[in-house]
Amino acid sequence: MALVVILTGAGISAESGIPTFRDQNGLWENHDVGEVATPKGWMENPKLVWRFYQERRRGMQGVEPNAAHRALVDLEKKLLNNGHGFYLITQNIDGLDIKAGIQYIVEMHGALRRFRCEKCDYEVENDYLEDDLLPCPECGWVHLRPDVVWFDEMPHNPEIFLSAVNQCTHFVSIGTSGEVYPAAHFIHDALRDGKEVYYQNTDPIHAHLLGMEIHEFQGKASEKVPELCSNILKSLGISEKEELITDNDAS
Ligand code: NAD
Repeated sequence: MALVVILTGAGISAESGIPTFRDQNGLWENHDVGEVATPKGWMENPKLVWRFYQERRRGMQGVEPNAAHRALVDLEKKLLNNGHGFYLITQNIDGLDIKAGIQYIVEMHGALRRFRCEKCDYEVENDYLEDDLLPCPECGWVHLRPDVVWFDEMPHNPEIFLSAVNQCTHFVSIGTSGEVYPAAHFIHDALRDGKEVYYQNTDPIHAHLLGMEIHEFQGKASEKVPELCSNILKSLGISEKEELITDNDAS
């Protein structure tokens, strides 16, 4: 049985219209990252940080998954139908993978669609798009925070993503600059352990990975991820034309 583990970064969502981070010279939508994406920034100016993330929540309205997200959904279904395993680890907070229909996923850097309380751990997903801070309805704490993982914070669900990376047979990196840890380690762990490794990015593979045994798919995610998924299915002897069993067929 194969276990295919995918790591995605901001590049997979670029063609859905969401700006990546590194492509903007360390500024994130014209803000200094230290001001809007660190616990220190939040402590010093919660209103600014809140407004930054509310702007991004508003910017998500009408944004749809692209062909790369859809190819991963198709890959997941075909692998599961054939007795194999699949796990998507995403660094993205845009939720487009879930919107596309992915089932097995860990959003290691949290999710823009959720708020949480730092005092009582209350969590909520809602459509609140205003710039006014929200107090916690559960414990009354002055403000909820975006449920996103900032620089200097621990990622969510490490036990799930570390075990997935350890146990996988195939590791796939898509649209990530590989500069944020611990995700940046995964490809090295996979190579060290002799896994089948795939790399997708508009940029050529990093110089420090040159000469390694890596299947490289350079180009836009919307064009190259479907090709990469076909390649994995073929290598496992799974027909791409295979009819998917849907819930409706089960009866
Ligand atoms: P990054 O911005 O550092 O790197 C993006 C990578 O995608 C680059 O290597 C770039 O060459 C590549 N890329 C750009 N367009 C592409 C395309 N069309 N197809 C394929 N590859 C393409 O992003 P990162 O590595 O994910 O790390 C930045 C951090 O910022 C993450 O932790 C993430 O939480 C956060 N972030 C998230 C989003 C989002 O949720 N969509 C957007 C920006 C930043």
